[in-house]
Amino acid sequence: MPARTDQATDPRLLAGLLLARRGQAYFSRKLNELRNDRLDAPSLVAGWTRRHVVAHVGLNARALTRLTEWAATGVETPMYASPTQRDEEIEFAATLPARALRNLCAHAAVHLDVEWRDLPEEAWRAPVRTALGRVVPASETVWMRTREVWVHAVDLDNGGSFDDFPPELLDALLADVVGAWRRRLGPDGLPALVLEPVDREVTYALAPDGTAPDWTVPDGTVPDGTVPNGTVTVRGTAADLTRWATGRGSRGLVTSDGAPVPEPPRWL
Ligand code: ZN
Repeated sequence: MPARTDQATDPRLLAGLLLARRGQAYFSRKLNELRNDRLDAPSLVAGWTRRHVVAHVGLNARALTRLTEWAATGVETPMYASPTQRDEEIEFAATLPARALRNLCAHAAVHLDVEWRDLPEEAWRAPVRTALGRVVPASETVWMRTREVWVHAVDLDNGGSFDDFPPELLDALLADVVGAWRRRLGPDGLPALVLEPVDREVTYALAPDGTAPDWTVPDGTVPDGTVPNGTVTVRGTAADLTRWATGRGSRGLVTSDGAPVPEPPRWL
C-alpha cells in the first residue's frame, strides 16, 4: 500500500521537499489568480506567452516524474527524448484549451509529488541523468523542480516576485547560478565579477584567472590580491541579485563604480 507520508527520512531532503512544495503552492496560486483570457499575454520569458510557461512547468513535472520512476525501478526513462521533442511538446500543450492546460499542469505536479512521497530512502541516491546530460542522484530532482516552480511563478508576470522567496531559496539559487556559470564557462571564461548581497554575509567573487579557488567568501571579505583589475562589483539585496543572475533584469542593483550593471552570463 502506498504511504501517505514521505518515505525519505534525511532531514536535508525533507527540507528540500518542503521548499519544492511551497514553490508549487506559490506557482499554483499565481496561476489560479490569472483569468483564462489573460493566459495569452506575454510572460517574462522572451518569446513565451503565459501559456508556454504553464505548459513548460507541467511538462517539467512529467519529465522529473520520469527520472523519479527511473530511480524507483532502475529502468532508464530520460527526461525528454530530445531537445526538439521537448520544445514541440511545449508548443503543442500551449495551444490546449485553458482548462486542459491548467489540468495538465496541476495533475503532473500531483503525480510527481506522489512519486517523490513513495520513493524509498535508498532510491533517492540512485543515479539519473538530467536533460543537460549531468548524472545526479534522484534527490536532485527536488532542487530541479524547486527552481522551476519558484522562478516561473515570477515569469507568469502576475505579481510574483523574488522578494517573496524564502531567504534560504535565494541563497541556494544564487549559488546554483554561480556554480552553473563556473561549470559551463570554466575559470578562464568567467566574467570578472564580485556579487555583494547587502543583506548577507556571503560575497561571491568570480575570479576569471583562477587565482581565487574559493570564489564564495563566507564572511564577505574578499582577500586582497584575489580580485583582478577591471572586476565589476554588483551590489543589491539577495533578491535583486538573484533576479539579475537568473536573467530577469537588473532592477535595484548598483555597481561599485557607477557603471551600468552588466548582462549576466546565461544561467541554464
Ligand atoms: Zn524552466
